[in-house]
Amino acid sequence: MLMKTDPSTKIFDLLQFGEYGDVNPSVCDSATFTFMQAKTMMDTFQGEAEGCFLYSRHWNPSNKYLADALAAMENTESAWVTASGMAAITCSILQICNSGDHIVCSLTIYGGTFTFLFNYVKKFNIDVTFVDITNLDLVKKAIRSNTKMIYTETVTNPLLQISDIPALAKIADDNRIKLVVDNTFTPMIVAPYQLGAHVVVYSMTKFINGKNDCVAGAICASKEFIDSLCDVNAGTAMLLGPALDPLRSSSILKNLHTLHIRMKQHSKNAMYLAEKFKEHGVKINYPGLPENKGHKILKEMMNPDFGFGGLMAIDMDNAVQAAKLMEMMEKSGVGYLAVSLGYFKTLFSNSGKSTSSEVPEDIQREMGLSEGLIRFSVGLDHDIENTWQKIKSCLDQM
Ligand SMILES: *Cc1c(COP(=O)(O)O)cnc(C)c1O
Repeated sequence: MLMKTDPSTKIFDLLQFGEYGDVNPSVCDSATFTFMQAKTMMDTFQGEAEGCFLYSRHWNPSNKYLADALAAMENTESAWVTASGMAAITCSILQICNSGDHIVCSLTIYGGTFTFLFNYVKKFNIDVTFVDITNLDLVKKAIRSNTKMIYTETVTNPLLQISDIPALAKIADDNRIKLVVDNTFTPMIVAPYQLGAHVVVYSMTKFINGKNDCVAGAICASKEFIDSLCDVNAGTAMLLGPALDPLRSSSILKNLHTLHIRMKQHSKNAMYLAEKFKEHGVKINYPGLPENKGHKILKEMMNPDFGFGGLMAIDMDNAVQAAKLMEMMEKSGVGYLAVSLGYFKTLFSNSGKSTSSEVPEDIQREMGLSEGLIRFSVGLDHDIENTWQKIKSCLDQM
């Protein structure tokens, strides 16, 4: 067992309250902050006045409460919250890489991240090699003298491949480069930093917030890295400016406190449906099934209290069949035909035609993404047997 601390207990143990004893820390609704001494302001600019706030693009007390809770969850020294998951990802990458550098990245990855690395970073003369992240030899061979980072997702989107984080961390350490891991699909379940990753990024839009009422992101890492991101003169987060609104931070913090219960229920329901799909003879990809390619590695890395996660994929062979099934499922109340994930209701979408449509079709085929793949984010249904009956009746009508 590699996990050292229980992420939910660490959040629970935090003593965070407002200046009036308000159990939910007060919302700090200010863009700027006043100083009694001019020198303290100067020191704050230089990053030398601990506990002082300057301006909310830099730090805000409400954002700090949420960031501290996330750092506790990941067991990192520090964290910073962003206005979206993409902001967390792009700021981390641009903080680590300079013009002329090289990145080794998983080929199966969130569509926005893929297209950022496939198209956008060219303008900074940053080179990217995409590899099958489960093939560690390919990862090693792809590293060059100018490589600065290995980038992956714990459970990759949408193929649900499992990254062997301890092994990738060793490759990164041996080459003195950073391992950056997007853990959006598996908060609580896997703690990448404790397994050796250097930077952990999140789209909080998904499970962490879990309400689908906003987009938000987070970066969890060493104090040195987070401080460098927020440096007034050279920090990517400070200078590109994707600060999260403090009102949102305070609402996400409250949702974070139920994350452990939600993750258990998402996982329990997903496992139930995965077994049913399997019995029914539908091609199912769920890392919780023992025959799944990534099952063994995920089992070694995960905190067993929280299960194998809420994401699964089935293969309906072609996009027409996938569309037909999704429309029927929506009508019969299984959930919503929608992108995104980690919501209390089940969400499903055809990845090749939606969230991974940024990935050129030839590359979709290369990564093994079937045209008929339906990704499910299984909801918090109390009566999952009833949900299965609805799905079964849709399948029977196909
Ligand atoms: C949604 C998502 C993102 C992007 O997050 P936003 O909050 O939409 O910017 C990044 N990575 C993964 C794995 C995601 O699911």
